[in-house]
Amino acid sequence: MAVCKTGAEHIRSLQDGRKVFIDGQSVADVTTHPAFRNSVASAASLYDFQAAPEQIEFMTFAFDGSNRRANRGWQMPRNYAETVARRKALIAWAELSYGFMGRSPDHLASALVGQRMGLDVFVKYNPARAKAFADYFDFATRSDLFLTYVIINPQADRSKDWGEQEPDLVARVVDEDSGGITVRGAKMLGTSSIMANEVLVANLQPLKPGEEDLAFSCAVPMNIKGLRVLSRKSYENSAVSVYDNPVSSRFDENDAIIHFGDVKVPWDRVFVHRDVDMCRAQFHDTPGHIYQNYQSQIRLVVKLKFLVALARKLTEAIGTVNMPQVREQLGRLAANAGMVESMMYGIEAAGSQQGEWWVPNKHHVYSAQVITQDLYPKIINTIRELAGGAFIMLPSSFRDFGNPEIEPIIRKTQRSAALAPEAKVKFLKAAWDAVGSEFGSRHTQYEMFYAGAQFVTAGHSFRTYGWDGSAKLLDRLLSSFDLADSLNNAKH
Ligand SMILES: Cc1cc2nc3c(=O)[nH]c(=O)nc-3n(C[C@H](O)[C@H](O)[C@H](O)COP(=O)(O)OP(=O)(O)OC[C@H]3O[C@@H](n4cnc5c(N)ncnc54)[C@H](O)[C@@H]3O)c2cc1C
Repeated sequence: MAVCKTGAEHIRSLQDGRKVFIDGQSVADVTTHPAFRNSVASAASLYDFQAAPEQIEFMTFAFDGSNRRANRGWQMPRNYAETVARRKALIAWAELSYGFMGRSPDHLASALVGQRMGLDVFVKYNPARAKAFADYFDFATRSDLFLTYVIINPQADRSKDWGEQEPDLVARVVDEDSGGITVRGAKMLGTSSIMANEVLVANLQPLKPGEEDLAFSCAVPMNIKGLRVLSRKSYENSAVSVYDNPVSSRFDENDAIIHFGDVKVPWDRVFVHRDVDMCRAQFHDTPGHIYQNYQSQIRLVVKLKFLVALARKLTEAIGTVNMPQVREQLGRLAANAGMVESMMYGIEAAGSQQGEWWVPNKHHVYSAQVITQDLYPKIINTIRELAGGAFIMLPSSFRDFGNPEIEPIIRKTQRSAALAPEAKVKFLKAAWDAVGSEFGSRHTQYEMFYAGAQFVTAGHSFRTYGWDGSAKLLDRLLSSFDLADSLNNAKH
């Protein structure tokens, strides 16, 4: 057995009879289906990367005396230095997909690391559920599981409370016995669920008393009886070729409705049971929400580095790079990428020791979240503005180069300031794939919403900012003068 999980092992683990549906068909094997196989291979390559002898120490750690090492995403940092070492491993993974795989396995590992750091919160609410969670964390870490999560209810009718939606729409507990609970209904949007081993089901949105049926959390394998994955359109499947769609053909991590058709979940997989407040506490009273969103910011640092490189090459390709206004735009893009990277360092450095563990700074995470969900579409828009028609004035596909009648025309008309025609077409197709294609557009939606709509993330920022400290500054100024002083001074 290898020292840690490998790509081949991960691929084998996905051939488990899971029920995935796309284009009206049931998928027999996600690892070979044209809608998913390249993304699955990209996920597998993460494990091959960590298993390479020269990377093992850097990318993995020994958990609890085990001989099998696990990805550092599962490591619970005990101090700042371990936090930095862990982050470097997460950066290396994100670089393999240029930041385009939002739900690489380290996302959920981070969420669970944070929740596990707050085990006392689970214990306070329900010791039996706390034990189930702690055991599951050990199992998931030891197995280096690829987990995803569905923690949001289907959008349904937003003018109604969750408990008032159509019966059996929102996933809820419909039964329980000595073996466990039975879950019926749907959750959105299980990103990466087609290539994950298991799914954490939970409830991040506020519930109110009386909605206890909806107030549960559990983890189940993707092939559990009754679970169906209803995939969105596959961008991988609609990719023309790797030359035409180098990003979407390989890194379309997929999103899906997860439907629970009376899924029986054993008690040792149930972490919250009919407890509205514990659903909130699982994420917000533990460092769980901090850790999952800190991981997202780490990944975004990589994606923005990629995008600013793309922006610069674009201006070189069309010969605008030396125009002062264009350089200013590039300078602003670079500043934004630099800001996001600085925020990542700040989140870590301004963290604190909480008991045994180092916990990144909560408000700094939310600051970064609020700023970046607004920033990402602006960055994409700036890149599009710099491009003009460059992304569109392109051959229909690589095949046009094979037609002798039009090939010389293509080579003439695709001349560039800096690139040979073939290289220019190659680059601009990659750029459009990343920022403007249906895949690129989904990414804009992802960065705007994966952590909640703006009113939600801004609410977290409001709730967690150090208002008292900042108010003291203001109060000091206001208490340094008053009206009477001014009136007195005026008399003299
Ligand atoms: C690409 C993608 C991948 C995702 N992957 C996952 C995943 O893997 N797992 C998971 O659990 N979730 C996932 N999500 C879901 C994501 O967490 C939600 O989209 C997000 O929390 C917002 O919820 P919503 O979609 O219901 O939008 P809503 O909350 O309905 O918000 C939509 C808009 O409606 C308006 N609005 C709604 N309610 C209010 C209000 N009370 N006050 C003011 N304005 C309001 C705002 O304009 C808001 O922007 C994913 C989403 C996307 C887009």
